[in-house]
Amino acid sequence: MDIKKTYMDANALLEGHFKLSSGNHSQFYLQSAKVLEDPKTAKLLAEALAEQIKKSGLEIDTVCAPALGGLIAGFALATALDVRFIFAERVNGAMNIRRGFEVTKGERVLMCEDIITTGGSAMEAAAVVKELGGEIVGVAALANRGFCKREHSEIETKSNCKLPQDIPFFALADFTFEMYAPEECPLCKDGSEAIKPGSRGN
Ligand code: ZN
Repeated sequence: MDIKKTYMDANALLEGHFKLSSGNHSQFYLQSAKVLEDPKTAKLLAEALAEQIKKSGLEIDTVCAPALGGLIAGFALATALDVRFIFAERVNGAMNIRRGFEVTKGERVLMCEDIITTGGSAMEAAAVVKELGGEIVGVAALANRGFCKREHSEIETKSNCKLPQDIPFFALADFTFEMYAPEECPLCKDGSEAIKPGSRGN
């Protein structure tokens, strides 16, 4: 499965000249939810990720995703792994596990996101799981922005990666692309103008 082509075909990975919400410019824009718009594609991606995890021999009782970003990927991954699925959500800014979900002592939990940038949200949710007695055995995401080293990749962990280094991180592909301060953007220097992605409303 060609992961980048799958994202491109779903218009989840756009190429052009974009102004990101951070104010930086980039040649690429990743709208990771778009790739999950077609449930069949979501299923295929999750199955590819599940296969990688199964091959590693990692034992998992439950997949836990931080809402909203991780919900669809997490549910699809739990389906492919045939394990339980729960989610954490923000209440007044703080991650919580609600809705009657329980975590038992020693339960082996895999955190799942659609995309891992620094892994901040995943680790906030993981802290809640740990408080309830769960054990975080790994992290999984469909896409990796390239700040954290995943299994089977040469990319080195950057200093802003928040994932713990003693558990495995599984992802299907690295989506590393440069971001530029507007005054240093080579695309601007070439005379093109940066557009806001999803200007019809994200
Ligand atoms: Zn630019």
